[in-house]
Amino acid sequence: MTAKTPVNIILLGPPGAGKGTQAARLVEERNMVQLSTGDMLRAAKDSGTEMGNRVAEVMARGELVTDEIVIGLIEEQLTTVNADGFIFDGFPRTLAQADALGELLEKTGQSLDAVIEMQVNDEVLVSRILNRAAEAVAAGGTARADDNEESLKLRLMEYYKKTSPLIGYYHAKGKLQSIDGLGQIDEVAVSIGDIVAKATEA
Ligand code: ADP
Repeated sequence: MTAKTPVNIILLGPPGAGKGTQAARLVEERNMVQLSTGDMLRAAKDSGTEMGNRVAEVMARGELVTDEIVIGLIEEQLTTVNADGFIFDGFPRTLAQADALGELLEKTGQSLDAVIEMQVNDEVLVSRILNRAAEAVAAGGTARADDNEESLKLRLMEYYKKTSPLIGYYHAKGKLQSIDGLGQIDEVAVSIGDIVAKATEA
């Protein structure tokens, strides 16, 4: 097998856009590694560490945790994990995080190949997330603490205030590719797969 050039991508989009679902497909199909700061923070919370306890409340409200914490989590992964490419899922979420990621990638000799913006309208986001919560409960589990109407409102506001400026930021850097996130999971996966395949060839 010839060594493939690792392709590193960011999945950018509001809560409920389907970033985690699509990241899981890329992990399965392309052997990439998903770096989800949301998953890392939930794991920290479950481990009951001091940091975990501190962030749990912030997350439940739907606010962003501090840049320092999430940048630290990503740095740890980038410097220790070897992959056929990283999928950044839910990171960066602020301009400071985007700058930090650029510096970390440069420091570790890695590239950022594409930023894929998944476009989904608010109505669909809200219904997807409230459905996800209802399904978790129906299956006998518990919904995520932030998958309720009140926290979701704040999560969307955080996205528009702090994360959506990254669309312009990456556009200016020539990295942005926007796709329609409203289609079936398989259709969205094809759009993302095409972008990743092109980046691999480049
Ligand atoms: P979603 O995209 O559905 O909102 P995530 O699992 O990506 O879900 O994130 C859940 C929560 O974790 C966020 O609302 C926020 O509190 C916290 N979080 C995750 N990633 C970051 C990040 N990069 N910066 C700040 N907070 C984050």
